[in-house]
Amino acid sequence: MKAPVPAAEQARLDALRRYDVLDTDAEQAYDDITQIASYIAQTPIALISLVDGERQWFKSRVGLPVSETSRDYAFCAHALLDADQPLIVPDALKDERFADNPLVTGYPDIRFYAGAPLVTPDHHALGTLCVIDRTPRQMTSEQMRTLTALSRQVVAQLELRRRSAELRRLSAEREVYLSQLEDYQQKLETAHARLHDISLTDALTGVGNRVAFDERLRDELYRATRDDTPLSLLMVDVDGFKAFNDTFGHQAGDVALQTVATALRCVRPSDFLARYGGEEFAVILPATSREGAGILAERIRKAVAGTTCPHRAVTVSIGSSTLTPGSADGALLVAAADRALYAAKQSGRNRVAHAACFAA
Ligand code: GH3
Ligand code: MG
Ligand code: MG
Repeated sequence: MKAPVPAAEQARLDALRRYDVLDTDAEQAYDDITQIASYIAQTPIALISLVDGERQWFKSRVGLPVSETSRDYAFCAHALLDADQPLIVPDALKDERFADNPLVTGYPDIRFYAGAPLVTPDHHALGTLCVIDRTPRQMTSEQMRTLTALSRQVVAQLELRRRSAELRRLSAEREVYLSQLEDYQQKLETAHARLHDISLTDALTGVGNRVAFDERLRDELYRATRDDTPLSLLMVDVDGFKAFNDTFGHQAGDVALQTVATALRCVRPSDFLARYGGEEFAVILPATSREGAGILAERIRKAVAGTTCPHRAVTVSIGSSTLTPGSADGALLVAAADRALYAAKQSGRNRVAHAACFAA
């Protein structure tokens, strides 16, 4: 007789699927339990049977060479109808549910069956831990208690399996999440660095802008005072640039400014070049004396004069100043370089002049 379908069968099957154990390989932990069950019950056959939709599948088996049978003939399908009691069939031939069962009338000739349901924490019977004999018999209550205890061990093992799979999934998810987070962080840092660069760069010429100049001058003033090293500043102004613009147009003027900026890059890597405003550039020269600044200014002047600008040659006038030792006033240094620049313009342009930086 085919066992009736248990109540809440779909929920039971869902519970079984959650363990993801069907059709997996044999495992020592389960095989140990069937070995013990067969020994305790003194039966030739012991099985961990999981009742799937259409079949019963054996996670572990002692004394039976098949891995599954049809659910239609499964004793265990009857056993799981009552999750709270083991099913004991002392003689299958005398039990109308099983007398004409092919597993009784033919191989493996079941006569005696005792199955303890495998009950999940949410009270679903997944199958049984069962012991089978080919002769009618009984089990002592001691043996039945032990079989039931072992059935709980099977469920504990299944729970362990489910939880460790869950942990693996969570930790994989965490890995993915962490790597995404790292990725975002990196992108953010790159964007931030790019933004920082943009905020300190002059869009037309690519050299430092006024903000960068102010920042760098502050740093270098601090360093010069701390290390007691000289600090020089050059103010570089394009000569007759208004006329250049008026004659050749603003766009040609922009190209000329870019050409001048390129020529100004002949400064040392430790020097700092910025567009101070309009057609005026500034060069901060750390650890550079008045003489050194004069030599560099002359080199810059020549570099610009030697550059071929479209339309006509462009020259610059340069004012240079050097910080008085003991003074750390950036405004005074800029004012002195400006004065020197004015003097260079006055004395004919395309030349370098120096002005001392006096404390106020
Ligand atoms: P000086 O030799 O005395 O320096 O004469 P100058 O004509 O260069 O001086 P002035 O300050 O009178 O003119 C500066 C001109 O620079 C004014 C403006 O047309 C031009 N200028 C300033 N910024 C830019 C810019 O970004 N692009 C272009 N094309 N021209 C600029
Ligand atoms: Mg000018
Ligand atoms: Mg100017």
